[in-house]
Formats: sequence, structure tokens, C-alpha cells
Amino acid sequence: MPVFKVLHFPHVLLRKPSTPVEKFTPGLRQFAADMIETMNAYEGIGLAAPQVGILKRLMVVDVRPYFENASLKEWHGTYTYSIDGKQLELPSPLILVNPVITTKEQEIIFPFDGCLSFPGVDRGQTTRWKKIILEAKNIDGLAVRIESDGILSICLQHEMDHLEGVLFIDRIDGKVIEDDVVAEIQDHESDASTRRRMKKMKLVDARSQKLDFL
Ligand SMILES: [Zn+2]
Repeated sequence: MPVFKVLHFPHVLLRKPSTPVEKFTPGLRQFAADMIETMNAYEGIGLAAPQVGILKRLMVVDVRPYFENASLKEWHGTYTYSIDGKQLELPSPLILVNPVITTKEQEIIFPFDGCLSFPGVDRGQTTRWKKIILEAKNIDGLAVRIESDGILSICLQHEMDHLEGVLFIDRIDGKVIEDDVVAEIQDHESDASTRRRMKKMKLVDARSQKLDFL
């Protein structure tokens, strides 16, 4: 299974809105599996399709590393997950297709926002919603509903933003100087240990794959 190359800010595709997935094909299933592989390889807790250059409304999320970190307990939060109205265990990793946030409540400041498209950029304080309800399809095209607060809610909001071309730096209170952000990313990219690690990952451009759902 390939690990995709994750696009870094200020790549132009990170600013484009994505279109809905219309075809639930074997290729979509494979793409989602490769997205999970990629998220794991980069040690992320979420990844959206536009981050690998595919402008489709699909994202993968796995917040277990957060749940396993006791020092982040105040952000663990609560959630319910249901398919076709039936409450089930939250799958981890989670694949969400065509997600929509239907309810959002109470603004909060999240102190640890960060993004795989911004490697080397210190985590920022962002304004987010505390609690959301999100509706989507799973990879089989079934209706998913997630009610969440805590890190799952924050992560879902972060990935949702990617589908609109909105980035976490847009949610930081106060002015962000984009040139400084780009310089931090470039420093990180040119670091010798980063380059060695990236070379080992044998990254694949998702746009070079034959994707039957486009
Ligand atoms: Zn991100």
C-alpha cells in the first residue's frame, strides 16, 4: 500500500474547495486505506484528501494517540457514533465521506492545533466549536452520525476545513504572517534528518494513481 506525499503549505491545492464523492467504488476503498496508511506513516491524527492533492470530500481520523495520552485528559471528551440510527463503537481509524457539520455549539480555544501540511510549525491556538454533530457516509455509503466534544470534535472540524480550503492558521486568533510560516516549513524540509526520513518513506503522488471515483 502506498504512502502518499502530503502537500505542504502554501501549495495551491490546499486552498481549493473539494467536490462530493459520487461513486463508492473499489478504488475509493483502496484510496481510503492508503490515506490511513499515509496518516499513520506521518503520525497524524487526521488527514483530508486535498492534503494529498485529491479534491474530493473524504477524510480519515484516528484520535487514539490523544486518548492514550493522560496529560491531555481534559481534551479526551465524549462522543457517540451511529450508522443508520444504530449506536455502535467508534471505529478507529474512521473514514468519512461527504461529511457535513449539522450542529455546532459554544466557541472554545484549542491550544494544540497543528497540521501535517505545516511540518515544523509550532502548534497554534485556534478558535473551534466545543461540541458538534457531524453527518457523513462511511466507505460503504451508509449514513454515519457522530456527536462529539473534546479532541474528536476538534479534529473533525480541522479536517472539515481542509475540504473548504480553510487551514488552521486561518483559525488562529491574531495575525499570522504567511511568509514566516513558509520559512518555518522550509527550514523543516531542508533539515537533514527530515530528508532522510522522507526518502525512506518512498512517497507516492496520489494524483499519479488511477482513481476510479474521480
Ligand atoms: Zn490539517
